[in-house]
Amino acid sequence: MKYKSTRGNDEYITSAEAILQGLSKDRGLFVPVEFPVIDIDFSEMVSMDYKDVAFYILKKFLDDFSDEELKDAIEKAYDDKFEAKEIAPLVEREGVYFLELYHGKTLAFKDMALSILPHLLTKAAKKLGEDKKIVILAATSGDTGKAALEGFANVKDTEVIVFYPANGVSEIQRRQMITQDGNNTHVVAIKGNFDDAQRGVKEIFNDDKFAKRMADSDYVFSSANSINIGRLVPQVVYYVYTYIELLKRGEIKAGERINFVVPTGNFGNILAGYYAKRMGLPINKLICASNENNVLSDFLNTGIYDINRDFILTKSPSMDILISSNLERLLYEISDQDEELIRTMMSQLENEEKKYNIKESMKKNLSDFYGGFANDDETLITIKKVYDASNYVIDTHTAVAYKVYEQYKEETNDESKTVIVSTASPYKFTKSVLDGLMDKNYEENEFEMIKLLSKLTGLHIPEPIKDLDKKPILHHIECEKQEMKAVVADILNI
Ligand SMILES: *Cc1c(COP(=O)(O)O)cnc(C)c1O
Repeated sequence: MKYKSTRGNDEYITSAEAILQGLSKDRGLFVPVEFPVIDIDFSEMVSMDYKDVAFYILKKFLDDFSDEELKDAIEKAYDDKFEAKEIAPLVEREGVYFLELYHGKTLAFKDMALSILPHLLTKAAKKLGEDKKIVILAATSGDTGKAALEGFANVKDTEVIVFYPANGVSEIQRRQMITQDGNNTHVVAIKGNFDDAQRGVKEIFNDDKFAKRMADSDYVFSSANSINIGRLVPQVVYYVYTYIELLKRGEIKAGERINFVVPTGNFGNILAGYYAKRMGLPINKLICASNENNVLSDFLNTGIYDINRDFILTKSPSMDILISSNLERLLYEISDQDEELIRTMMSQLENEEKKYNIKESMKKNLSDFYGGFANDDETLITIKKVYDASNYVIDTHTAVAYKVYEQYKEETNDESKTVIVSTASPYKFTKSVLDGLMDKNYEENEFEMIKLLSKLTGLHIPEPIKDLDKKPILHHIECEKQEMKAVVADILNI
């Protein structure tokens, strides 16, 4: 297996190099040169558990890692940090399946990949003779930051520094971050919004002089962002695992095609589903669900990607995004790996036009996907509807997916078995979930609302947020947005 950039400098590198580097020097994303195929019968896979499937898939993509390295990483990632022993429980309600990817420590699906990435990254560094300490820098609007902190906490030879907008995250998300333990974790609130944090981090990444200062003190930067191929590959696992699970339960026959509905923001999760399909997993449609920031559903329906529109703050904030970075990897595939075209389209998006248009031939290749969106009202109504019908509580992101599935089914009458990919625990977005369930506007504090939601629905409060309000606050740094570099230097003592 080799990896190369979507923007086509002719460099072919190993997966370890791609994971360590994060982003290609030409600013493209690393992609596999060809897709590995699933080469054992599904009927032989039914005895596999989550970790076995993880090993099978990771070995296909990361074949420069030894069996021991991969097994060690998998053991360390998918242990009792996850409250569900299956790691990713598949729950059936009214003929639809929900794949619960939120039983890790941060209560969102980012844990699926970020619990293993630190191990892959440190092993890659060792393999490549990189002996500097790895510094993970992340800007977060809430979910990625906490998952990166949890993933990297106390991982040898790493430091993790997370910047979040002081007034731009939910109280639960903020508390999750500032109470983070670990001898190598650093959390900084910046006086600015998420874009300021993201811009600051990119500036630090691209500052050669700063990189030199870092190197002189034996530090090197890397990325825990979903542009890293080391986050994408572990996400392929749960698509295959789900298929095997359905087979095991006798819900489908081997070879039967199923749908996945994915609440989508940066296009990382659903792209992993597409990779699974390219490996031979029998997937019918990948249903891409957006909130009112519906750039992606417009794109899938028209072939035009256009970010000339307002950025809307919604009740599914982890999907509030206009530039979905991982779409570049899909464009690369549907253009038959036309690197020059990718360069052109990406520069159109980044420059004045802020949009691009794909060719007819590429549009045809989008038939694996269906795109739709739901607004906030529809989202809250869906939470109530699902609960009333089946006593099952879903969060706002999952509700967006459910609503879009209803539209899809009405439009197509497709009866294929369908899995809703559930990306967050209802407790991560307690207020919106309660508001939806009870058709009210709750104004209690977040921790009271957690208790209320539990009382109303009987839903078990996940361990990681149980006593969150009582945990000591360990991180106090706050800075101006232009001080981020100085703060990093200070933290690293360089
Ligand atoms: C990150 C996130 C998403 C979006 O996933 P992408 O891979 O960015 O498309 C959806 N839901 C939740 C809860 C998330 O944290």
